[in-house]
Amino acid sequence: MEQGQVGGDAAKSATRKANDKLSEAFEYQSVQVLKGVGPAVAEKLKRLEIYNIQDVLFHLPMRYEDRTKVTPLGSLQLGQQALIEGTIDHSEIKFAGRGRRSLLCYLSDNTGAVVLRFFHFNKAQQNNLSVGTRLRCFGEARRGATRLEIVHPEYQVLHAVDGTIEQSLTPIYPRTEGVHQTLLKKISEQVLSTINQGRLIDWLPRSLLEAIFDEGSKQRRWPDLVTAISQVHRPDSNADVGRLNECSTLAQQRLLFEELVAHQLSLLQVRMDIRKNCALSLKVTADEYAAFTSKLAFELTHAQQRVIAEIYADINSPQPMLRLVQGDVGSGKTVVAAAAAIAVINAGGQIAIMAPTEILAEQHYANFRQWFDEHACVLLTGKDKGRKREHKLASILAGEVQIIIGTHALFQQDVHFENLVLLVVDEQHRFGVHQRLALREKGQVSTEGENRVPHQLIMTATPIPRSLAMTAYADLDYSVIDELPAGRKPVTTVVVSTSRRDEVIQRIESACEKGEQAYWVCTLVEESEVLQCQAAEVAAQQLGDELENVRVGLVHGRMKQQQKQQIVSRFKNREIDLLVATTVIEVGVDVPNASLMVIENAERLGLAQLHQLRGRVGRGSKQSACVLMYQAPLSENGKQRMSILRETNDGFKVAEKDLELRGPGEVLGTRQTGLMQMRIADIVRDERWFPEVKKAAGYIIKHHPQSVKPLVRRWLGKADRFVNV
Ligand code: ADP
Ligand code: MG
Repeated sequence: MEQGQVGGDAAKSATRKANDKLSEAFEYQSVQVLKGVGPAVAEKLKRLEIYNIQDVLFHLPMRYEDRTKVTPLGSLQLGQQALIEGTIDHSEIKFAGRGRRSLLCYLSDNTGAVVLRFFHFNKAQQNNLSVGTRLRCFGEARRGATRLEIVHPEYQVLHAVDGTIEQSLTPIYPRTEGVHQTLLKKISEQVLSTINQGRLIDWLPRSLLEAIFDEGSKQRRWPDLVTAISQVHRPDSNADVGRLNECSTLAQQRLLFEELVAHQLSLLQVRMDIRKNCALSLKVTADEYAAFTSKLAFELTHAQQRVIAEIYADINSPQPMLRLVQGDVGSGKTVVAAAAAIAVINAGGQIAIMAPTEILAEQHYANFRQWFDEHACVLLTGKDKGRKREHKLASILAGEVQIIIGTHALFQQDVHFENLVLLVVDEQHRFGVHQRLALREKGQVSTEGENRVPHQLIMTATPIPRSLAMTAYADLDYSVIDELPAGRKPVTTVVVSTSRRDEVIQRIESACEKGEQAYWVCTLVEESEVLQCQAAEVAAQQLGDELENVRVGLVHGRMKQQQKQQIVSRFKNREIDLLVATTVIEVGVDVPNASLMVIENAERLGLAQLHQLRGRVGRGSKQSACVLMYQAPLSENGKQRMSILRETNDGFKVAEKDLELRGPGEVLGTRQTGLMQMRIADIVRDERWFPEVKKAAGYIIKHHPQSVKPLVRRWLGKADRFVNV
């Protein structure tokens, strides 16, 4: 937008300033200026982190649906999401095992037929879906028993003349309870109609792209921000929905690049900010270290020793340590954290260890009490309430306890430390970046004008390629424990069909007779925890009946914490032989005597998760086995995935293969790893941009430092409140 036609440079710059101001005001205006958004709706939008106009613009569709044309049933493809129309020829209720009913409707047009399947339905729906009714449906075609099937399609009964069809691709926005697509579409529509006037500042102007990308590369000609954002919200009607869903259009690439840059800037900023502070310089003498290692029941591996040395070097410095330790399941990360704890204890400070589950926190607590003075340790979890909690909080505040172990309960508002000098976050992938940053703020102490912050040690078992780790954790230094303790016998993995369940049962029986212990893990494809727990209850009951001389225990996510702990410790004390569990045992259960693990419906889990689960056995010196049971028939891809686990015990190899077979987004999906919550970018899928992202971030910090703050705010929004830019 050119406005300053008159006057010289001064006038131009004044106009620019005025425009900037206008844009500032525009971007940060509350959503309540929009039609149809009152206080109640604004409140709901907050749940999506939508507060202002800019947040509306950057609340981007996560995928697109093509409802612009009706697909003839005869040309419907497996896996295709499609709008279809047809007449119901026949409907019936079928009973599947365990009392599950489903309603099946056979729909046809003059080219072919498809089955609609409903697991949940009421009488009225059933009546509606009677023979002869014409329907328009939208859903994904899946493989059914005899023909393609659509499970729970959206549908609409067609009457004689009605039913207009969408004219353009349908953007699907991330939503939340009480906020529907229509609302999101309506408000984005309003904002989009006003940004065309060049009111939105483009922080990646052409000059910047030209500085980052090679001459002749098409990135230099990426659309400007306003064009890009408009196209992403409202793609052309002739756009390729497949390409859009892969985020490979120029507009999407332009935006995801900017998002990656914003994240990179935010992390670099965090690092620079922290590095400006000081930390307590800590020291461990050779004697103290020897005294600690002599208490251990094992020799530390070379890799553990190397990582401990790296940590000692870090914490010896008066600058805060920021280190990520990556080590496969069972590589012995806990003891590395304990070695760091010695230094803290010596200095009379406090160390906080945060674990993602109560089971794991409890486990650490038991270990640390063994390694250190038990009175120095305290466990703080969500289950601590009332006086007990107050008492614990008081002893933390008074500095009576030095080793504080807990779940995310540690970063609640009322938790105050007397002198936090080291923060350990275990299984980082289970926490968001921002939870970790929040806890770090806790330990901030101001002494004579100097800001002192705790050292930080982050531990994770997620095998991430190094380059990726360095980008995802740009604020951290990086160590790897790339060696398993000696004497570990690799877990033998076998893959069997559920038809051989009897043999598996026998195997459990004979293992338990020999005094060994076993796990039985129940999985369900449904996200529902309730169903998963029910399945585990049923399995435990059944196994208890089948295995007369085996003591069966059950642990699942919906049990009370105390109950869970009790079961796990009874398993540890060998009062239980077979522990039936849901995937809650994925992290934290450490019972070296357990040597057999059976995973039901293994084909439903990702390789990384199976590997993590398998890591629960093979912790002692016994030969251990993992039985992956699948429901036949196993797909070709499923076969390959199972055989990878059979072939290797190396977490990195498993992850690499998983990448090849499932594609990166699936493997390290941000939800799964908690790496970063991104709007459009995916740090694995978009890895190829990293070199330029780094370049751009460096360039902006150097040449346009004033852009950092608004860029970070734009993309990270409120989530960035922990970053003191
Ligand atoms: P993870 O890296 O998965 O957190 P843990 O710290 O839970 O692994 O260690 C797994 C098991 O290995 C524990 O029982 C621990 O005591 C044991 N362990 C750790 N280091 C060694 C070692 N160097 N030699 C033998 N056993 C070890
Ligand atoms: Mg661990």
